[in-house]
Amino acid sequence: MSREGGGSGTVDGDETIDDDGTTDDDGSTDDDGTTNGSRTADDETRRTRTERFLVDVMCGTLATYLRFCGYDAAYALDRGVEDDDRIASIAAAEDRTLLTRDRELAERVDGALLLESRDPADQLAELADAGVAIEIAETPRRCGRCNGRLDRVSDTPNRPAYVPSEGSVWRCRDCGQWFWKGSHWRDVRARIGAARST
Ligand SMILES: [Zn+2]
Repeated sequence: MSREGGGSGTVDGDETIDDDGTTDDDGSTDDDGTTNGSRTADDETRRTRTERFLVDVMCGTLATYLRFCGYDAAYALDRGVEDDDRIASIAAAEDRTLLTRDRELAERVDGALLLESRDPADQLAELADAGVAIEIAETPRRCGRCNGRLDRVSDTPNRPAYVPSEGSVWRCRDCGQWFWKGSHWRDVRARIGAARST
């Protein structure tokens, strides 16, 4: 079953991923990346309440899983960002919890969570241990491909042939991807459920 959006244009280009338009405001960050003193959030409670993540390079599958859990999970490579300074500034500017396997970077960024595992399922378990609710969203909210918001589509005269003709379907506002609770969704649900129980 293809998961590509029919006729929605680019699949992997940066231009489909310009979601919130909030990535360009790093002008408020000093060149050395120090913006200490500006954070007023209660860091003790922030970690378990946040629903916004920035997922570092090499952890793209984790980003997808988090999106299936309904989280706003930006992926650094989707933003075309690999540089540590840029990643740190985006996390601060967008108030995202950075998830990274880079210990040095984790120590630099307020509230970052250091991931020890390579395996995405194990990474999910690490997040669960850290107090992040890991549970698939019964109502899909985020595009697994680009993190865009999903809208439920009730009237679907333009539904492509590969999309089931019955049952709930959703479509990404940003990239046009169609979603439904098919075999892929069930597979991800099983993986997330297994990660939670480890
Ligand atoms: Zn999308």
